[in-house]
Formats: sequence, C-alpha cells, structure tokens
Amino acid sequence: MPSVLIGRRRRTRQIRAGSLKIGGGAPVSVQSMCNTRTEDARATVDQCRRLEAAGCELIRVAVPDMAAARKLGRIKAAIGVPLVADIHFDYSLALEAVRQGVDKVRINPGNIGDKARVAEVARACKAAGVPIRIGVNAGSLKAIRNSPRPRWTAAKWASVMVKEALDEVRLLESLGFRDIAVSLKADDLDRTVLANRLFARRCDIPLHLGVTEAGSSLAGTVKSSAALSLLLADGIGDTVRVSLTEDPALQVRAAYEILKAFGLREYGPDLVSCPTCGRCQVDVEKAVKQVEETIYSSPDLLRRSKGMKIAVMGCVVNGPGEAREADFGVAGGKGRGVWIERGKQIKVVKESEWVREIIRKIRSGK
Ligand code: SF4
Repeated sequence: MPSVLIGRRRRTRQIRAGSLKIGGGAPVSVQSMCNTRTEDARATVDQCRRLEAAGCELIRVAVPDMAAARKLGRIKAAIGVPLVADIHFDYSLALEAVRQGVDKVRINPGNIGDKARVAEVARACKAAGVPIRIGVNAGSLKAIRNSPRPRWTAAKWASVMVKEALDEVRLLESLGFRDIAVSLKADDLDRTVLANRLFARRCDIPLHLGVTEAGSSLAGTVKSSAALSLLLADGIGDTVRVSLTEDPALQVRAAYEILKAFGLREYGPDLVSCPTCGRCQVDVEKAVKQVEETIYSSPDLLRRSKGMKIAVMGCVVNGPGEAREADFGVAGGKGRGVWIERGKQIKVVKESEWVREIIRKIRSGK
C-alpha cells in the first residue's frame, strides 16, 4: 500500500520502452546505468545481467562513439531488460543506436546540435517505435553556454531548465512525435525539485527522476532520497535512478529502498534491525550484512523474501517486543538468540546459525 504521505500520482501519458510501461499509472520503475565501456560488449552484458538480477528494469549505456553504438545490438540480444542508449553531441550515434534495436534513446538537447538533427533522430525513433528521453542537466543548459556560472536563484535555474525541456518537447511534438519522457537533473536538491515540480504542472509527459552526480554511496543516497522523497510525495515521478559513485547494482537497491519506504514498490524484505547498544552481546551488524548480502545477490531469495518483515535485534530486553510485528526474527542473548515468529518465542538459536536460519526460513516461505 502506498504511504499516506504520497499524493495522488500525477496523471501522465504512457510510453513504452520495449516491454516496460512508463507513466500513465504504471508502477514507478527503477533504472540504472552501466559504467563499463560499451564497446566491450562482454563486460557490459555481464554488468547488465548483474543489474537485471538486482531488479533493474531499464538499463542505460553510454554511447560515446560509433564503436560503442555498433555493439548495442549484441548487448540488447544478450539481456532481458530494455536498453537505453545515452547520446551526447553526435546525433548520428542516436541513428545507429536505433538501427541496432535499442528500446529508448536519451538525448541531451543542450549538446545534440541544431533542430534539424534532433528532428532526424525523432523521425528514426518514430519509425522504429522507440521513445526519446529529453535529459536536461543544469550543467549543460544552452542558456549557460556563454556564461558557465550564472548567479541565478534556484527558481531561475528551474525555469530555464523547464523552458529548454519544453522547447525540445514542442519540437518533437511538432514532428508528430509524442513518445517522450523528460528528466530535469541538477546536483542539488533545490534545483532538481523545483524544476520537476514546475515541469509537472506544465504538461503530461512522464518524468524520470534523479539527482545528477549525487556523490558517494552514503552522501549520494541521502541527497537522492531527500529529493526523490519530496517529488514522490507530490505524486511526481515515473522512473527513478539513484546516481552514485558506486557499483550500479547498489544504485538499483538504493532506488528500490526509497520506493519501498513509500510503499510504491516491493523489493526484498523489510529488514528491521536495531542499532545495538551497551546491552548487546552478539554481532548484529555482521549478521545483518550477511543476511543482506545473501538475499541481494540471489534473485530467488529476493523474490521469495518480497514483503517479509524480518527482525534482527541485539538483545532480549527490547528485542522480542520490537520484533513482535515481524514475520520472524531473532533477538540476541550471549552468543545465542531467541527465535521469534509472529510475536511468539519459538526456540533458541546459536549466533553462528542465525544467518542460515533466516535464509532457510525465507526459502521455506512460511
Ligand atoms: S534491541 Fe537491545 S541491544 Fe538493540 S538497541 Fe535495543 S536495547 Fe540495545
């Protein structure tokens, strides 16, 4: 159930990237981007498969040159998730990506060139049934080409970002092309949130959300979470990406955790664990890490544990009480713990057996 904090989802038109529905009431989907060299098709396919196993629903790859563009067909054929070609500067790469059969093209109008080139990409995409994401980044706006560091307020930045996005939308729509998504990203909360709120009021085009260059694992997740939370609470957002200087599979997990907190998507278990304190005589941190690593590296466990509430608590003073609402879990003693199922204390389990017992319980599904 979506959180009561979530406003009514914004009504958008629906587009499709391969089999994935975006907008128009479809679930908010999770996107990530490979950090392999795309022309190294084998490495890219390997990473795509890891992302797919982690639940990624749309995978973007950089297409910096024709060598990369010509590998897209091979990559696409080897994976089961829709593939997005990320194009900057050279519109001919977008045309090649479409020929290679990608499911979506992302272009940055600030650096793709003149209108005639954008129009040519639109014509090719229309003929192939491929949607286009207009990706507007604050750092590459046309308006700042000659003044790279304007002293604008966040509201001014947002209005320029939205104007540039809408200019491209109008150009595409004037060509009869309507399968459009838009993203408006900056590296800070204010511009990202204001731009997306403003755009959402102006048209019915699905929005891909993210904070660009968000940062390292912890800082980037917190910043992305803050921005996405404000927008999702407004009912805005159709696809999301958490951009981290990290393994792309972790980006997938971070995105799902945000959506899961809002009740917008289910993803693995709700793992409740205590922060530990001076009463704790077991290694809760280690157990939780091991449980997470085991679940999130196994598509089967990820699927089976969906919606389960599992508790790992440090002691029996507060543990059993706090674990009461969990489907099952364990509350520590000294080198052992009380196994609890739906509030009932069932047995005692040695600390060394906790992870195995939790995984066994997920597998049994009871
Ligand atoms: S469950 Fe026990 S060990 Fe964990 S924080 Fe609470 S009192 Fe401390």
